[in-house]
Amino acid sequence: MDSVKVNGRSYRMPARPVVVVCIDGSAPEYFEDGLKRGLLPNLARFRRQGFSALADCVIPSFTNPNNLSIVSGAPPSVHGISGNFFLDPDTGREVMMNEPALLRCESILAALSRQGRRIAIVTAKDKLRRLLGHGVQGGICFSAERAHEATEAENGIADATALVRRKTPDVYSAALSEFVMEAGVRLLETARPDAMYLSLTDYVQHKHAPGTPEADAFYRSLDAYWGRLEQMGALVGLTADHGMNAKTRADGTPDIVYLETVLAEGLAPGGFRVILPITDPYVLHHGALGSFATVYLRDPADGPGVRERLGRVRGIVYAEPRAAACARFELPPDRVGDLVVISGANVVLGKSPQSHDLSLLKEPLRSHGGLAEQRVPFELSAPVSAAYRDRARAGLRNFDIFDYLLNGTAA
Ligand SMILES: [Zn+2]
Repeated sequence: MDSVKVNGRSYRMPARPVVVVCIDGSAPEYFEDGLKRGLLPNLARFRRQGFSALADCVIPSFTNPNNLSIVSGAPPSVHGISGNFFLDPDTGREVMMNEPALLRCESILAALSRQGRRIAIVTAKDKLRRLLGHGVQGGICFSAERAHEATEAENGIADATALVRRKTPDVYSAALSEFVMEAGVRLLETARPDAMYLSLTDYVQHKHAPGTPEADAFYRSLDAYWGRLEQMGALVGLTADHGMNAKTRADGTPDIVYLETVLAEGLAPGGFRVILPITDPYVLHHGALGSFATVYLRDPADGPGVRERLGRVRGIVYAEPRAAACARFELPPDRVGDLVVISGANVVLGKSPQSHDLSLLKEPLRSHGGLAEQRVPFELSAPVSAAYRDRARAGLRNFDIFDYLLNGTAA
């Protein structure tokens, strides 16, 4: 078979290795700023010879929903991952969305592996590894965070630190992403997978704005890896799971709307529950503060009043009922609260002042989750057909990238 159908789209079999890099938290400004100052020569070459556009990511502009969309070519209404975290309706408990049992569709990578193609997946953090690798047969799948624990049986490779010739990096470091990129280069040299997905971490972007020395150093390092992958014969696609914005007031302090405080003004205690789907075990990045929240109400009749009240709060740009939000953002209704709330470009949503330890934030808060972080880069190392160029004018999603690489290029 020379193509495979996944979630309603057909994908051609890769004729040469295809590599998608998800640069976590890479707002387009990081690329534009680096290109303007000549820091990213390989990306500049991709722009001359390949294809470049901006794409919209999935809302909520969080890591897990977008990574799953990219590998499945479909929105969360299809794959089921609505956040990093959700309220399980069966148990009433807030749980991490990192269990493969929560997935509702197959990934492009799994489908390619069923056709005998070799797959490699390397993630920065371990939280995504099992979701991304679900259904992949006989491939390699490990995280930089747990590289030293990799085994042939679980990960398709024993001790990934030997492959990369580096120790497992600190989970809060730029080196975690560089480890993923180095692993990608080494895997291309050795296992030479037909399709590879490299998912980085937004540690740098959470702390450092475009144009800062730390961001410059990180992006120069990434650019060198993109060049190496391409020089080794890979077709390279670059995109992001979401952008990133400063979430601070003029004085540099975090600009936070505490939803439980707002809701408590009109509702009885226990009448509502606020879920922040940005929450994950790696809170040092962001203090569990992002620009997207969902609210569960004990009495759905409270909905219109709550919505009206939230709509009047400074910094909130969107407060709509489940049905409207799920239709607009293509979300699974059974994993979203009665209301979806989104804050503006420089504002985050919290639960209550005592729920967030702001002392953990060492730099001014930068975060994501809302509409202001939806724009992401979409770059290919090779040109696409006229039909795909035309299609892009109508708007691209980050989860179109495997379609563009496998079906849109001449390779
Ligand atoms: Zn992310």
